[in-house]
Amino acid sequence: MTGTVTNWAGNITYSTGRVHRPGSVDALRALVAGSATVRALGSGHSFNTIADPGPGGVLLSLAALPPEVEVDTAARTVRVGGGVRYAELARRVHRHGLALANMASLPHISVAGSVATGTHGSGVANGPLAAAVREVELVTADGCTVRIGRGDARFGGAVTSLGALGVVTALVLDLEPAYAVEQHVFTELPLEGLDFEAVAGAAYSVSLFTDWRDAGFRQVWLKRRTDQPPADFPWAAPAQTALHPVPGMPADNCTAQHGVPGPWHERLPHFRAEFTPSSGAELQSEYLLPRGDALAALHALDAVRDTVAPVLRTCEVRTVAADGQWLSPSHGRDTVALHFTWVEDTAAVLPAVRRVEAALEPFGPRPHWGKVFALPAAVLRGRYPRLADFRALARELDPAGKFTNAFVRDLLTG
Ligand SMILES: Cc1cc2nc3c(=O)[nH]c(=O)nc-3n(C[C@H](O)[C@H](O)[C@H](O)COP(=O)(O)OP(=O)(O)OC[C@H]3O[C@@H](n4cnc5c(N)ncnc54)[C@H](O)[C@@H]3O)c2cc1C
Repeated sequence: MTGTVTNWAGNITYSTGRVHRPGSVDALRALVAGSATVRALGSGHSFNTIADPGPGGVLLSLAALPPEVEVDTAARTVRVGGGVRYAELARRVHRHGLALANMASLPHISVAGSVATGTHGSGVANGPLAAAVREVELVTADGCTVRIGRGDARFGGAVTSLGALGVVTALVLDLEPAYAVEQHVFTELPLEGLDFEAVAGAAYSVSLFTDWRDAGFRQVWLKRRTDQPPADFPWAAPAQTALHPVPGMPADNCTAQHGVPGPWHERLPHFRAEFTPSSGAELQSEYLLPRGDALAALHALDAVRDTVAPVLRTCEVRTVAADGQWLSPSHGRDTVALHFTWVEDTAAVLPAVRRVEAALEPFGPRPHWGKVFALPAAVLRGRYPRLADFRALARELDPAGKFTNAFVRDLLTG
């Protein structure tokens, strides 16, 4: 395929107009071994240049490989191919009476691309999606296949790797017995007097939404597992109609609300798998910081809402449990994730991004690797205590820097 290649949002045009789509892992190995610079492209849902190989580099998609999903019901694991998306994975796993622990808001994103950037859902006890990974299989610079599993000293760098170690051809994920979830939406939760810990812990997965036109939250989405005891939610009133997180948008594409129980994969994402988003008229940013600072950080955002609100479609507040991946934005700390869905105008949005970063600076925020941010690499380097270990792993697996693009270069070599 040749022509202009952009990400899903259309705000990034990759340096190459060609996406290589090998039809077999052997063809992929040969392509990697014979190329000087390579980057894998997942479903292209990142909002920055993280997937861009740079001029003259090879951009490689795994979409033409057989969509491998091999469930081991006895071991409660699944081996999933490097091009498979969560929607397909979830459907196949559910057929076996099994489930993933969590999902992101959109099920259309690829598994390999998501865990590479530290993508997450919500829940005080739920780590990022990478926490489910028990083994990574990747094709490294010389075209060889390397498997790195839990227990391997390199595992901490292998999953949330920003695509910098090689091409992930398969992942093995933990599963658990399938469960049902009810989604309840509440409206108008004030910021004043907010007991963040109680609210965030009121269900298996909790999201707060605000447009920052006022202090406080327009909506609270609770995803309750029916196999866990229900908790009251006394702080806001139940919504009377189904709602979309962006005020004024129709809720047709959203997963079922009003507490109707349904399978985990039809409730944990906010958006329905049957709805196919072609391109998105939006940009996104997200900052992850210690959960204990959540309330102070929300007040810091409230203080800059006059700058933020005019270019904001919605802001979502979620929680992520600490995990061990060295480059995970929730590495080593229970986290609150402050997400912004912006209008699609980069020039108008960047000043608000910088304002948000300045407001959150006292809390040492780590930006989502797949979203828009302005924090320099020098600052990011100081936010990842295991960065030296990741650099050593990158040198071991990719000594010539075949997978080092401009996005990761400063982080890895600065
Ligand atoms: C509408 C929307 C909703 C979103 N919701 C959430 C959310 O709820 N939570 C959240 O945390 N994030 C969310 N995101 C962000 C999204 O999850 C990340 O950007 C994620 O990386 C997207 O996966 P992808 O396959 O599209 O990755 P891409 O953008 O294609 O690639 C991202 C990185 O992964 C690498 N990569 C991809 N595939 C491979 C592979 N096979 N081997 C090696 N490296 C690979 C790429 O090289 C690149 O570095 C959302 C994004 C959108 C557009």
